Amino acid sequence: MSADAVLKPDFAARRRHFIFTDEHEALRESIRAFAIKELAPHAEEWEETTFPDWVFKRMGELGFLGLDKPEEYGGQGGDYYSSLVLAEELVHAHSGGLTMGVAVQTDMAMPPILAFGTEEQKQQWVVPAIAGDAILCLGITEPDAGSDVAGIKTRAVRDGDDYVITGSKTYITNGHRAHAIVLVTKTDPDAGYDGFTLFLVPMDAPGVVREKKLAKLGMHASDTALLAFQDVRVPAGAVLGQVGKGFYHIMWELQGERLIGAAGAVAAAQRVFDQTLQYATERTAFGRQIGKFQVTRHKFAEMATKIESARQLVYSTAWRFAEGHYPVREISMAKLHASRIAVEVADECIQIHGGAGYMKEYGVERVWRDLRLNRIGAGTDEIMLDVIGRSYGL
Ligand SMILES: Cc1cc2nc3c(=O)[nH]c(=O)nc-3n(C[C@H](O)[C@H](O)[C@H](O)COP(=O)(O)OP(=O)(O)OC[C@H]3O[C@@H](n4cnc5c(N)ncnc54)[C@H](O)[C@@H]3O)c2cc1C
Repeated sequence: MSADAVLKPDFAARRRHFIFTDEHEALRESIRAFAIKELAPHAEEWEETTFPDWVFKRMGELGFLGLDKPEEYGGQGGDYYSSLVLAEELVHAHSGGLTMGVAVQTDMAMPPILAFGTEEQKQQWVVPAIAGDAILCLGITEPDAGSDVAGIKTRAVRDGDDYVITGSKTYITNGHRAHAIVLVTKTDPDAGYDGFTLFLVPMDAPGVVREKKLAKLGMHASDTALLAFQDVRVPAGAVLGQVGKGFYHIMWELQGERLIGAAGAVAAAQRVFDQTLQYATERTAFGRQIGKFQVTRHKFAEMATKIESARQLVYSTAWRFAEGHYPVREISMAKLHASRIAVEVADECIQIHGGAGYMKEYGVERVWRDLRLNRIGAGTDEIMLDVIGRSYGL
């Protein structure tokens, strides 16, 4: 640059983060186009009916359920960032419930099977799950134990070559439609953290009861189940990972789930921000665009700053995760911060819309209702704070 050149801010400049390549951007465009064209038109209807199973099949056909999964199981063999792209671009389906149902498949249930499963288990469940032919769910939470995972009561008792499972799980996303569940049980209640074991249980096994469809504040397009396991007999081959190591396996799983949830929360906040920015240039009051009031301008500035800070935290943490680190503290920070700011942004966007923000027609209230889950699911704000605090030896 010459000494007399004048530097002017270029707010329209490309702002691609260094973790993403041209391939990621091409993928971003195709997922966004798919979400806008094939999913978003049904978003309203799916709030009433939950999204249909063909979404999994279609996404399987397009390769979107295995972006970062090994090619030998039908995946695309992409890097971790490709799953971030999926989480980010699916917000254009305008359906938090759909995004969550898909994330349970790709980033909650599949990773532990790929990481700890046998070749047979991968062939039986991961291959059809990537193709969209099998739907998976994950069962940690129970009526009497959510945050306190160590307090679960579901028991798996060895009986000859089999295990017999008894207990219940609640708030299970995809629980009504799933073909298999990654189930957290206790095999040795006296062994503390070393007494847990994961199982891969077919949902049509005798004794698996889909007890109730649970009604909820948001995420209406997803199905949420209360499940009972009544003397469910499974062979020893249904054990996922090591007997007695289930607690550590599921804590590992939760890290990926939290990070992908954080990425989705930031993207949803950005989308509702963009929608509201547009509204603020169209709506007038007292003879001017509402966005031109200084108070509104500053609201956008505050929101944009929050979104950007959360995004950078998610990306830098994702980079460490993809490099093979195990950044539990940073993932907890990213999950906490992204969830909080996303809810704050959605709330402010309702405010900027005025009465329209309260109306279903604009969809802003739905974003708030859907995002409100992020401060609870996969570990509450309070649990994230505790993990972060404890990481300093407190
Ligand atoms: C729509 C939806 C979908 C879900 N999907 C799934 C799923 O697919 N699979 C699954 O396994 N689970 C799922 N969950 C469960 C979710 O992960 C739990 O709800 C969450 O972990 C909190 O557990 P809890 O509801 O039992 O709350 P509790 O653990 O009872 O917590 C109640 C309150 O106490 C606070 N608290 C608890 N312990 C502490 C502590 N040590 N310090 C400070 N405060 C504390 C919490 O932060 C919270 O504010 C889902 C939940 C919802 C709502």
